[in-house]
Order: sequence, then structure tokens, then C-alpha cells
Amino acid sequence: MKTRNPEGIAEAIRKAETVAVCSHIYPDGDTVGSALAMRLALQAMGKKVQVFCQHKVPDNLAFLPGAAEFRRPEENTDSFDLLLAVDVSDEGRLGSCIELKKRCAHTAQIDHHGTNPGYAEVNSIDGAASATCTMLRDHLKALGTELTADIAVCLYTGISTDTGNFSFDCTDAEAFDVMSDLMKTGLPIAQLSLRLFRERSKEQILLLGKAIGSLEFRADGRLAVMKLTKKDFEDCGALSEHADTLVNYGLETTGTQMALLGRESDDGKIKFSLRAREPYCVDGIAKRLGGGGHARASGVSMEGSLGETTETVAAEMLKGLN
Ligand code: 5GP
Ligand code: MN
Repeated sequence: MKTRNPEGIAEAIRKAETVAVCSHIYPDGDTVGSALAMRLALQAMGKKVQVFCQHKVPDNLAFLPGAAEFRRPEENTDSFDLLLAVDVSDEGRLGSCIELKKRCAHTAQIDHHGTNPGYAEVNSIDGAASATCTMLRDHLKALGTELTADIAVCLYTGISTDTGNFSFDCTDAEAFDVMSDLMKTGLPIAQLSLRLFRERSKEQILLLGKAIGSLEFRADGRLAVMKLTKKDFEDCGALSEHADTLVNYGLETTGTQMALLGRESDDGKIKFSLRAREPYCVDGIAKRLGGGGHARASGVSMEGSLGETTETVAAEMLKGLN
């Protein structure tokens, strides 16, 4: 069941006239890029498409074609023939979009998380793929739709962000092979990579200062721990999205093998980002705590205080290091 299944997804899409494409909560470049690429491809096939997400698209992704078309489920009460989740590793990650299941006749999903249990009627899952956007090239081919310049911008965004701009160990030959196809559409890579990787908002820079200020090393520096409180976000005029890549700074110290960032989020829960360097893994740790993700990049949301939950996660990570 956990295989890439472009034909199965294409069949489900061909049978549908109306499709609700869903991104995961706290959306990132891969889930937003995937949803918007599918939106364009399905529109080219003459389908009626609506993209959904519980949370707003981060400001740094607002330039993507169709980004303004995202709706929360309560903002559009239509029924659909198909719910298509993209980059959504489990049903909990649909957030309030879970409600759409009641108004969709069928469900399908495309995802690259190894922890995905295969919750849809039709599943296309490849835990080895560098990004959901990487997988979409095969899916577009199966649909017989053209790889347009706008779709290429969406796919590049997902592939580049999930691979850490082609530097994480999930970066593989397929990522570059897909990139070769994207470049042939005239992809403005310099302009896009400046926007995605070399430019940060004032809020992000201020929040980086808070995160670094909170940095603690455990186990002789093998584990880096960072915390961001609600007040930190308020002081910086920042949103949760502005903390999205800060955990990586914890991993950048020589000798650090795992890093965690805990942040107090708007829903009252504490959202953790877990990262590891080879050969260590954090997906098992995240899964045990109720979350999931990839071997070197996972996450979990927990109930409790920032201090207590951080100690719980840190203790699990220390076990993982030993
Ligand atoms: P991040 O730390 O950047 O939010 O997430 C890292 C990876 O873990 C992403 O692939 C994300 O989809 C996944 N992830 C983050 N939080 C959760 C969670 O609460 N549950 C699950 N299943 N996956 C998560
Ligand atoms: Mn992804």
C-alpha cells in the first residue's frame, strides 16, 4: 500500500469533476507548492478545484501562482467528488480540513512521509522521495497534463524547501532529474532562490535572535535545545511561520547530532521541530510522542507547558543518541 501510485491517483481524478485539494496545518513550501501545482494541472483538465488549508499560507510563499485562492474549510461549504491531500502525513495533519471528508465522495492522497499510515481510499506514498513535489512530476505525466512554467515554480518551491536547497541527505538523483525538467520551462531560479533562501523578513531575523538566545547544549553539545515563548513572538511581531527553519541553527554547531525547537503556538499546544544528523533519526521519537515526519526532520505537537514538554522531548532525544 505504501507505494507511489500515479495511475491510481490519475484514475481517481479522472472520475471526479470537482476536487478539494488539501494542505497540511502550518503549511510549508512542499504542501503549498504541491496543492497549487495540482490546482493548475486539474484546472487544465477542466476540473473545478478548490485548495484548502486550516492555516494561512506563509508570507514568503504568497507569491506562488494561486496562493490567494486557499480557503479554510468553513469559508467554502461546497461538496466535492474527491478530496486530494498532498504532503499530509496523517489525518491529524489535515487539521480542520478533516471536516471536508464528510462533503467529499472519495479520498486520495500523495505523500512522501514514511510514517504515513495510508489513510485515504487511494494512496500514493513514497517515503524515499525527497518531496511530495518531486513525486508530482510522475503524477502530472499520468494525468497527461503539461508541465507549465507556473507549475514548475510551484514544484521547485516544494523540492528546494524540503531538500534544504538541495543540501539535506534526502536530496537525490530524482530531485535533480525533476529540476532538469523544471529548468526547461524557463524557471527563474536565481530570483526564486533569493526569495526562498537568502532573504528573510525582519520578524524572522528578530526571532532568530530570541531562538539563539535560548539555545542550550546537552550531552556535551550533542543535543541543541531551543525554545520560543508566545512573548518572544509578540516582542518580534512574529507569527509561528517565522520560526519554521530556525531549528536548523541548532544543528549547525560542530559536534551537534540532534536539535529541537519548541514553540508555544496559537492553539495552546507546544509545537516541536526535531532534527538529526546522519546516522541518527528522529522520526521514531516523534512517532512515539504522537507526531511523525522524516528520518532527519520530524515534528510533534504536545499539550502542557513549554518547559515540561521540552524536557520530555529532550529526554527521548537523549535516549536516541545513546
Ligand atoms: P517541521 O519541524 O518543519 O514543522 O516538520 C518537520 C517534518 O515533520 C515535516 O515533514 C512535517 O510534515 C512533519 N511534522 C511536523 N509536525 C508533525 C506532527 O505533529 N505530526 C506528524 N505526523 N508530522 C509532523
Ligand atoms: Mn514534504
